[in-house]
Amino acid sequence: MRILRGAEVSARIKEQVREELEKLQVKRPGFVPKLAIVRLGENPDDVSYERGAIKKMENFGLQAQSYSFPQDISNEEFKARFREINENPDVTGILLLKPLPKQIQEKEIDRMILPEKDLDGISPVNMAKIFMGDGTGFAPCTAEAVVEVLKANEIPIAGKKITIVGRSLIVGKPLSMLMMKENGTVTVCHTKTLDLAGTCRQAEILVAAAGKAKMLKEEHVGQDAVVIDVGIHVNDEGKLCGDVDFDSIKDKASAATPVPGGVGTVTTAVLAKHLVQAGMLMTGKG
Ligand code: NAP
Repeated sequence: MRILRGAEVSARIKEQVREELEKLQVKRPGFVPKLAIVRLGENPDDVSYERGAIKKMENFGLQAQSYSFPQDISNEEFKARFREINENPDVTGILLLKPLPKQIQEKEIDRMILPEKDLDGISPVNMAKIFMGDGTGFAPCTAEAVVEVLKANEIPIAGKKITIVGRSLIVGKPLSMLMMKENGTVTVCHTKTLDLAGTCRQAEILVAAAGKAKMLKEEHVGQDAVVIDVGIHVNDEGKLCGDVDFDSIKDKASAATPVPGGVGTVTTAVLAKHLVQAGMLMTGKG
């Protein structure tokens, strides 16, 4: 089985980012796009993700700054702070770490974020663009990362039977649209799907985005299928694992992404790509 490593895909995206940044700096000398990472509370997963994302932006020649707020900040106070970040001309793009605490009206924030700074595709405008196949919007980074992994490894999508397990707004649904745009024939599974294993086995490309550790096993994978694992979990031994039981599929799949070192690595590279694109949008306007 071929292992589809995220590092190689990320290196390719880094090269694209370097080229785009050069073009941007011809138009606006000295300009370095800046990412604002907005975090509420001190969830260790969020803090660790934030640290990784800041490092990645810097490694890609970009800037990033954390804007953290207390877990119990009121909805009105957070909206006011978020508005300041949104309107700050020094902030090129925004990543809001979710889920948000219960008192925050998440939909209000999703509607408030400026589409041209919305690097993770949470605003209704960007969602509509993805739905319409309009490439001028930002797709959620993880969904786009799945497509990047396939393209970088020259795995064709057009005409292929693709099954996605998961229909969340941040992964499954937008990914189904991106795959259709690439002319894949898409099936989306969820908790009410009957015969999940049988449906998954039909797939030539199987994407696991269910949020259940090691849920997909050999019986879910068709012979020689390509398996992309979006899941991230910390197991009982404190080690990372995905939604796919990697050991059980390795003699059946033709290729698969590992966890760690697969899609997650590419997600932050896509975030960097979106940040430079947001810099272009901002420069075009100014
Ligand atoms: P989510 O919001 O919890 O959605 C999970 C989806 O999977 C839902 O649509 C759910 O169906 C479906 N599902 C759950 N259990 C299932 C089952 N037993 N059979 C069939 N379908 C099932 O999760 P998410 O935010 O999309 O994230 C999915 C995974 O990706 C998580 O492990 C998360 O940590 C990971 N993730 C990774 C990255 C990255 O950068 N690699 C980024 C974001 C998320 P219903 O709709 O019927 O409930």
